[in-house]
Amino acid sequence: MLISIEKKYKELYNEKPLLVRSPGRVNIIGEHTDYNEGFVLPAAIDKAIYVAVGKRADEAIHLFSVDYKEAYQVLLSEIQPTKTWATYILGVVHQLVQRGYSIGGFNLVIDGDIPIGSGLSSSAAVECATVFALNELFSLGIDKMEMVQIAQKAEHEYAGVMCGIMDQFASMFGKKDQLIKLDCRSLEYQYEPLRLDGYKLVLFNTNVKHSLASSEYNIRRQQCEQGVAWVKMLYPEVNSLRDISMLMLDECVLPKDTLIYKRCKFVVEEIQRLLEACEYLEKGDIVSLGKKMFETHRGLSKEYEVSCKELDYLVDAVKGNHAVVGSRMMGGGFGGCTINIIKEGAIEEIAAMLCTEYKKVMQLDLITHVVAIGDGTAIQYL
Ligand code: ADP
Ligand code: MG
Repeated sequence: MLISIEKKYKELYNEKPLLVRSPGRVNIIGEHTDYNEGFVLPAAIDKAIYVAVGKRADEAIHLFSVDYKEAYQVLLSEIQPTKTWATYILGVVHQLVQRGYSIGGFNLVIDGDIPIGSGLSSSAAVECATVFALNELFSLGIDKMEMVQIAQKAEHEYAGVMCGIMDQFASMFGKKDQLIKLDCRSLEYQYEPLRLDGYKLVLFNTNVKHSLASSEYNIRRQQCEQGVAWVKMLYPEVNSLRDISMLMLDECVLPKDTLIYKRCKFVVEEIQRLLEACEYLEKGDIVSLGKKMFETHRGLSKEYEVSCKELDYLVDAVKGNHAVVGSRMMGGGFGGCTINIIKEGAIEEIAAMLCTEYKKVMQLDLITHVVAIGDGTAIQYL
């Protein structure tokens, strides 16, 4: 893909570009915890977005998407959100300009192999690739953490998705064979090696993305905020669900609203579950870690209610199979992929069986991706 994107850039602009790669991500456990100031445990994967960039002599931005076979051109002074793929790139430009960084016109060609809209955060990868490339091209001297924040803000303001920080962080800071335990309150993080001996990470893509996804996401955020506000009335020192115990929820939220209670309970327990999962990880106990993933799925499906029948079907179908130690829906919900830890020798058979059954029951194709954990955003040399 590196060779073909460079070729495309040369064909369009007749010069050699700067090349940047930024990966998609998985998250082992810790779902919907990032915007509640909890922990997450993501990793970058071996599927990525690639951008080729170069300066222009004028103040124009010329973009070309290989996948959409489409060009987009605009003057730097006239950028605004669009409903197209270009918005993720322009959102980053907007953030840079707003923060007073001095950039000029540029050309950019984009290509990638992250399945789009499947919960692997192709959008975050686009943003991270763009900010990293422009930082390099215009020698802006921005550190990686600020680049992550710029990428996240671009998603908020130009794509209208009020995402937490995990996706952009994982894409930027990923490291080969390492998970990242990120504290979303302090932004402190540490790498934790994932020793999967004999097992692999496998994604089963439902191939659905229900339209509820973004509206329900924003509703969940509000429900969590409501729970915090009620606890705060009695415990003014709390600022997020991270600071809140089950006892506090029982005391302050349960008497007020059982739905909000259910939502908050999931988050409080999920933060705890992640910490326990990390202990298993350190001991190399993948089987116990996997059990936690099943528990997370149950919570996401029954309490947080962000699953759907296709995701539930795929998790239920592998439950009880000794070769599958863990399975759960991943990402915002209402479609996308399940993430599974499966014995290497059994993957082919399980994938084939699931594919046939899923087609029969849902009339949909199932796509299987075996993923490896790779490095984060970086310049690429040919
Ligand atoms: P995801 O879960 O993959 O992040 P989103 O809906 O948040 O799903 O973001 C997907 C959007 O990101 C696409 O609709 C497109 O605008 C942009 N995108 C992803 N991959 C590419 C690509 N290869 N080329 C151009 N734009 C892309
Ligand atoms: Mg996204």
